[in-house]
This record gives sequence, C-alpha cells and structure tokens, in this order.
Amino acid sequence: MSIKVAVIGAKGRMGLEVVKAITSASDLELVASIDQNDDFNVVKNSGATVAVDFTTPDVIMKNIELLIEAGINPVVGTTGFNEEKIEKIKKLLSGKTGLAARLVPNFSIGAILMMRFAKAATKFYDSAEIIEYHHPNKIDAPSGTAIRTAQIIAEERKAHNLGKNPDATSSEIPGARGSKIDGIPVHAVRMQGLVAHQEVIFGSSGETLTIRHDSFDRESFMPGVLLAIRNVTKKPGLTIGIDDLIN
Ligand code: NAP
Repeated sequence: MSIKVAVIGAKGRMGLEVVKAITSASDLELVASIDQNDDFNVVKNSGATVAVDFTTPDVIMKNIELLIEAGINPVVGTTGFNEEKIEKIKKLLSGKTGLAARLVPNFSIGAILMMRFAKAATKFYDSAEIIEYHHPNKIDAPSGTAIRTAQIIAEERKAHNLGKNPDATSSEIPGARGSKIDGIPVHAVRMQGLVAHQEVIFGSSGETLTIRHDSFDRESFMPGVLLAIRNVTKKPGLTIGIDDLIN
C-alpha cells in the first residue's frame, strides 16, 4: 500500500522538487500540495499520513502544530529551529501517542557524511571553523546544516576536553570572526550562482584539513527526503536528521 503524502510550500524551490520526486515514486501517493494562502484544511482532509514542509522559518512552528493536531507525521526540511522550538515540538508530540516528526537540517547524503567526517576529525585538531555558502535568496543565516555541524563539533570537543579554539583576537569589527555556535565560529556567504555548500576547516600545528560538501542541484536532496517519508512513522516522537537511516 502506498504512503499518502502532502507537501506544504509546494510552489517553492524545494517544494517543486519534492512534488516531482513523490510523483515519480511508485510507493508514494501525493494527496495534497499547498502553498502560501492556500487552505490548510486541504492537507487536513487529504488522508495524508505524512506531510513534507519546505516553507519558511516564520511559519514552520504553526504548520507543525496544525499537522500534529491533525494526526499527520511531519517531515520538516524548513530550517531556523532553536532549543526552545524543539522543546515545544517534543511537548506537542508527547500528547499524541505514536505520532512522529523528523526535523532534517540537511537531506543530502553528502552533507550527512560531511558531518560524520567532521565529528571523526574533531579530536585530532586544536581549531575548527565552518564556512557555509548559499544562494542569495536564503533568508536564514547561518544555515541549519552549519548550526548542526557546529553543535556536533562542540559536543565532540567537550568530550575530548579540547577547550576553546585558540584565538588572540582582542579587537574586532562585529561579525569579522563569524557568529559563534557553541563556541565554533561560523561564517556565512550569500552569493549569486551558489546553491548550498559548506567547508569545515580543522587546524593544528603545521597542517589544516578541509572537509567540503557541494550541493549543485536541489535534486540531490530528494533521496534523503524520500527516505525520511518512508521511515518517519517507524520512530515515534521527535527525531533530528536522517543520520540513523543512512548506514
Ligand atoms: P522558497 O523557494 O522560498 O519556498 C518556500 C515556499 O513556501 C514558497 O513557495 C512560499 O510561498 C511558501 N510558503 C510560505 N508560507 C507558507 C505557508 N504558511 N503555507 C504554505 N506555504 C507557504 O524556499 P526554499 O528554497 O524552497 O527553502 C524552503 C526552506 O527549506 C528554507 O527554510 C530552506 O532553508 C530549507 N532548505 C532545507 C534543505 C534541507 O535539506 N533540509 C535544503 C534546502 C532548503 P511565497 O513564496 O508566496 O512566500
């Protein structure tokens, strides 16, 4: 039996690709697709068990709330989450036994491997910084992927008692050293011609290691989106990412 799926933000850059990918998958059925100003009841009454959301950080919490209320399992590609929002989602889900949600900062397999490799490299280096590069229409900075990578590196540094990055900066024009996510400097570039790219740079005496990932086309996110749709209901509650599905 096919999985009934709704898409929210269906006319956006990612939404259009998701609609195409779902329509081409024989085990999935697209039962609703809505965008800005469309009636949410279309999703609510569609019979969807899973809804994929690629909208904007300012509307995503409301959408998640509506989906959970309707008993639909959200797969969320929209970025811009913080601890407070994550806690709120957990609370919403706790009242709905068996319901699941996945917040996925990056659906690209290469980006997930980049994060894994970054975690593996962390303990060997004194310094770690991140540079993320995106198209100029992206409205949040830094990217969800960069934030997640910084958190992973920070957790790993803590586990290995690495302390702070060495940095003698005592005078700074604000922003020159990037934004600090759990102490890891993250620099965001916005440029015409780019899609989604990230470098994680590690350094110790006499050497650096750069791990770089490039998404040149939004199609690259689709295998991860389909994987999340097919598996979301198997793990009730909130799951971040699709790392557990890629082995
Ligand atoms: P986009 O092209 O701006 O698409 C967003 C779409 O959502 C637009 O069509 C927008 O309509 C629509 N929308 C806004 N409010 C809505 C609402 N309340 N209900 C339904 N639809 C609504 O953006 P995008 O490039 O596709 O990116 C979308 C999100 O995905 C961003 O947060 C981005 O960072 C994230 N992203 C995640 C991944 C990942 O792997 N997780 C990859 C790429 C992008 P209007 O244009 O009329 O406002």
